[in-house]
Amino acid sequence: MTTLLFTHPACLEHDPGRGHPESPDRLRAVLAALAAPEFARLERREAPLAALDDIGRVHPRAFAERLLAAVPQAGHAGIDADTVMSPGSGEAALRASGAVVAAVDAVVAGEADNAFCAVRPPGHHAEPLRPMGFCLFNSVAIGALRAREAHGLARVAVVDFDVHHGNGTQARFADDPTLFYASTHQYPLYPGTGAASETGVGNIVNVPLPPRAGSQQFRLGMTRTVLPALEQFRPELVLISAGFDAHKSDPLAQLQLDEADFTWATEQILAVAQAHARGRVVSTLEGGYDLRALGASAAAHVRVLMSV
Ligand code: ZN
Repeated sequence: MTTLLFTHPACLEHDPGRGHPESPDRLRAVLAALAAPEFARLERREAPLAALDDIGRVHPRAFAERLLAAVPQAGHAGIDADTVMSPGSGEAALRASGAVVAAVDAVVAGEADNAFCAVRPPGHHAEPLRPMGFCLFNSVAIGALRAREAHGLARVAVVDFDVHHGNGTQARFADDPTLFYASTHQYPLYPGTGAASETGVGNIVNVPLPPRAGSQQFRLGMTRTVLPALEQFRPELVLISAGFDAHKSDPLAQLQLDEADFTWATEQILAVAQAHARGRVVSTLEGGYDLRALGASAAAHVRVLMSV
């Protein structure tokens, strides 16, 4: 069947400044990898702007409006030491979240089996009241709430294999038993959350991995902890926070995964989605800072999405 690819040139116009790891070249690397002939049958769609009503299910509307009003006309505006806005950042953030919303709409409507959103800035560190960690709006959480509130899905899951813990997604989900969040991540590492003891209302699953952990520990954590919990939750839709910075080549962390691990993880998540969620999966780019590894890993991930 069909895999959708949502992206938008505006996502290249968010520029956190020279030397910042979350550079526009990251998205260029992903799109270059997905320009290979094997990806020609991806159905490509332009990411729309997210509506403030959709963002508002995660970030209070006044907060979102304040953040967009703080986008500079020229130069840069710093939110924290890591999180910086340029004149293009507002549209990029709205397109990134809009991509996930549109992907959820299309997949729930049965227009495609699954979708990948090649967008930036990333989102999983953005808490309801605090943009941080390169993230402005929490696109994956906005997509999950769209699925629940606009489409009436009873249970929506996010699986996050970015090397960093998605503190923002956890913060929004932690007291809501209709939402589920599972994360594998290096620990300790930025942002400092994600201990195994953080379980929400029984709907949060954290698998911290020590620095230099590799394929075996990652796959054990998925097999023993993440996947059984996801099965038990019986999601009607699975979203993936697809960060590829757990790759062994990544400069920001020390896990030792490679493309084959991302292929395997994607296959496992899809299998649960096929058992419980009619195969419905919406994946969104989060981190990944070695350009070659990022392109190859995103390609490996999308190849699996297209294989169903
Ligand atoms: Zn990350």
